[in-house]
Amino acid sequence: MKEVKVKDVIIGGEYIPIQTMIKNPVTDIDLTVSKINRLQKLGCDIIRISVPDQASAVALKEVIRQTSIPIVADIHFDYRLAIQAIEAGVHKVRINPGNIGSADRVKKVIACLKEYQIPVRIGINGGSLPDHLMNKGLSTVEMMLKAAEEEINYFEEADYHNIVLSFKSSHVLETIEVNRKADQKFHYPLHIGITEAGDLLDGTIKNCCGLTPLLLSGIGNTIRVSLTAPEEEEIKVGQRILEAVGKRVPEIEVVSCPTCGRTEVNISDIVQQIKMKIQGKKFNKQLKIAVMGCVVNGPGEAKDCDFGIACGKNKSMLFYQGKKLKMIKNEAILDELLIIMEKFYEKD
Ligand code: SF4
Repeated sequence: MKEVKVKDVIIGGEYIPIQTMIKNPVTDIDLTVSKINRLQKLGCDIIRISVPDQASAVALKEVIRQTSIPIVADIHFDYRLAIQAIEAGVHKVRINPGNIGSADRVKKVIACLKEYQIPVRIGINGGSLPDHLMNKGLSTVEMMLKAAEEEINYFEEADYHNIVLSFKSSHVLETIEVNRKADQKFHYPLHIGITEAGDLLDGTIKNCCGLTPLLLSGIGNTIRVSLTAPEEEEIKVGQRILEAVGKRVPEIEVVSCPTCGRTEVNISDIVQQIKMKIQGKKFNKQLKIAVMGCVVNGPGEAKDCDFGIACGKNKSMLFYQGKKLKMIKNEAILDELLIIMEKFYEKD
């Protein structure tokens, strides 16, 4: 499969980049830039920005100037905005064949993409397919594949192959089916995700269910988890999905017991506090920490971890590779844990 380079990020290589989309108008330049910087620190690889009008294309240029992340312009309806975004220095353009207009207009966009040597994503959405494909007795999946084929033809006829494809539906099974077929049919990298997936809970579940079977069978070269929630949540959920399917190695993994009638402390609070405390810390090895709710079963259940805490009512036992290290007061858990982690695994 061909690799596509978006600024310095490869789509189609072993590493699967995570994307999100800025949810405020790009014309609020300061907000957009500060958000991008925050998202980049969280692990976002590529940012997409809507360009609904000329003012947005102008603001986009300034955002590109002030940031270092690869930026994708999201274009609907008006091919001229695609050209303006490319001229503004954007690193990739996403267009939707369902609404970008005639072949003539697409050809003008292709000429500009070629001139600036940047890639395009042809983004097919099950909910916005070209009118001429409707009422022909085709299923949504068939229409999506057909729409992609027609659009790809325009690009290939112009000897342009710097293409990423996406096939998104709000239905999990439809998304899986269309991406499996697209993977067989086309030889361009696939951007995968569920569209209009819902709020944080529903959207997370739908994305996990839709993306996991695809990723496990080697389909999907970049992901975007669409959620009706802040951009940060999309990045966090995307990272967790990639970690869970073995496509990303977390620097520090925190596992915790589900708690039960033996639990005497608020494990959920302790887990959150530990996660906050260790966020961004780097050690010379990938670490796994277990937070367990009792001293009875906790140590045994946590023995495959580097560190374990078996929490009691006031005091907790700290473990290192399954062996008891010391008893500590609960209010000292966070500080003691960090001291010991640094002692055993010096920072790089
Ligand atoms: S580790 Fe202890 S508190 Fe947690 S679920 Fe198991 S038995 Fe219950």
